[in-house]
Amino acid sequence: MTITGKILIDGEWVEGQSGTYQAVNPATGEKLEPALSKASSDQVKEAVAAAEASASKFRRSSLSQRANFLRSCADEIMALGDTLVQRAMVETGLPQARIEGERARTCGQLNLFAETVLAGDFLDVRIDTALPDRQPLPRLDLRYLNQAIGPVVVFGASNFPLAFSVAGGDTASAFAAGCPVLVKGHSSHPGTSELVAQAIAQAVKKTGMPAGTFSLLMGSGREVGAALVTAPEVKAVGFTGSFAGGMALIKLANERPEPIPVFTEMGSLNPVVLLPKSLEDNAEQIAEAFVGSLNLGVGQFCTNPGLVLGIESPALDQFIEATAAFLVSQSAGVMLNEGIQQAYNEGVATISSQPGVAKRAVGESQENKPGFCCQPTLMTVSASAFIANPLLTEEMFGPAALLVTCKNLAELLTAVKSLRGQLTGTIHTAVGEMVDYDELIDALSQRVGRLLVNGFPTGVEVCHAMVHGGPFPASSDPRFTSVGTAAVYRFLRPICYQNYPKELFPEPLQDSNPLGIWRLINGERTTTAV
Ligand code: NAP
Repeated sequence: MTITGKILIDGEWVEGQSGTYQAVNPATGEKLEPALSKASSDQVKEAVAAAEASASKFRRSSLSQRANFLRSCADEIMALGDTLVQRAMVETGLPQARIEGERARTCGQLNLFAETVLAGDFLDVRIDTALPDRQPLPRLDLRYLNQAIGPVVVFGASNFPLAFSVAGGDTASAFAAGCPVLVKGHSSHPGTSELVAQAIAQAVKKTGMPAGTFSLLMGSGREVGAALVTAPEVKAVGFTGSFAGGMALIKLANERPEPIPVFTEMGSLNPVVLLPKSLEDNAEQIAEAFVGSLNLGVGQFCTNPGLVLGIESPALDQFIEATAAFLVSQSAGVMLNEGIQQAYNEGVATISSQPGVAKRAVGESQENKPGFCCQPTLMTVSASAFIANPLLTEEMFGPAALLVTCKNLAELLTAVKSLRGQLTGTIHTAVGEMVDYDELIDALSQRVGRLLVNGFPTGVEVCHAMVHGGPFPASSDPRFTSVGTAAVYRFLRPICYQNYPKELFPEPLQDSNPLGIWRLINGERTTTAV
């Protein structure tokens, strides 16, 4: 497979009609070949019309056909081989092991969704059979089923060129639901996006899915992205990125004649709370693991631990000293692109100049290094200054953290209660220590989508039980996750069939239960026939 610079509409690769641009290697700042083309608004309309034309057939594909398609996407991505790995590395500055790991995660995710589709639980079938003799009124036969919401727009994320991008979690879960997908690729890794789109296009063909099941459109967010979100045929949006970007899309979606859900994941500080005894026992080990997590992937994870809170003590001082000592030896890593580097430097400069904030340690300087590198940074602030200044709860996307020192438990509780919604919250505790901090832990749990004990939040398992979401502004809808199989629920809507002819029911609702799936029949969960 070679990169053509074309975009994919209705199964055809065509030249975008809005000019060209080039990807940039963030490790060197050099432009990469070939030139890539951008979609025009007419091309967006064509792609959306194709998705709409494919929606009915794709929605009604059998569970096994859809599972087969998802598996085929994974196989075709693997078949891209080294071409994909090399291009992703050169476009993102991420090392080979990370890209290969992410590819495995992406394909594992597609295969896991294939299993989820076959299991059929996501359909949430409920059947209440007719009660013709019920008094005072008879009950009619009622059957409930989750079905695909319609065409979904996915914005590829800059920080996961594979796992949260063209064939990432949003796309996989929308396909699993039975929704056609239109991807607005991220301009930070356009060649990678095209290669993955080629793999999906192959899978569409090989498994006989309708051509408009998948399209890839490159171009700017304000033009191509906005045109996609406002297209009447589009029924939902998945997004990972900045708060400003996410909010702009929510606004566009809400102003449509028919508002639609926009599932945004917009960043998080991922607070880490250090309970006193855990620090007395393990300050150095926790500090070392913390710095490892902070600097992983050059800190460019939405789950990066950017905020640490502890109660003043000699053990907390020891933790700060140890963290500083580990941090100074961290090298200045390559960031994903110039804009992210600039945002990081501005963020660190703003936070470090706030009243009461002190820079405690920095890693290797990015000065004199080629490309878009950044300096890992640790800052400290008192809880009173932190609580008084909402600006200190802004995300610094990259390897920077703010450590909040609290005078006592009451101040720690107030600091935690001052936090807005987060993707994760972490507690470091000695054995049996947590029971004495019930109110604190409850306050933290009310602000996060995932609560961790004695670990660090980077590394999000793709599984059935994962929640990668959380109260606003971590996500736009805290009822849903964007990672794990439960992500499929974002792209489904329930429909109830009342008194419907039995011979016309879709397979999941048929009396004989030909799919052998779990169903709620007259209030009882069973796989038996009606
Ligand atoms: P971004 O600027 O939010 O962009 C993400 C996608 O949304 C891009 O495709 C972008 O289009 C589009 N977009 C942005 N603003 C838009 C608007 N007003 N209307 C329509 N589309 C819009 O995120 P990014 O490029 O990945 O990184 C920028 C910053 O976002 C980072 O510095 C970081 O602070 C934050 N970020 C956070 C996370 C997280 O998980 N917390 C992840 C990534 C980034 P364009 O191609 O035109 O830019």
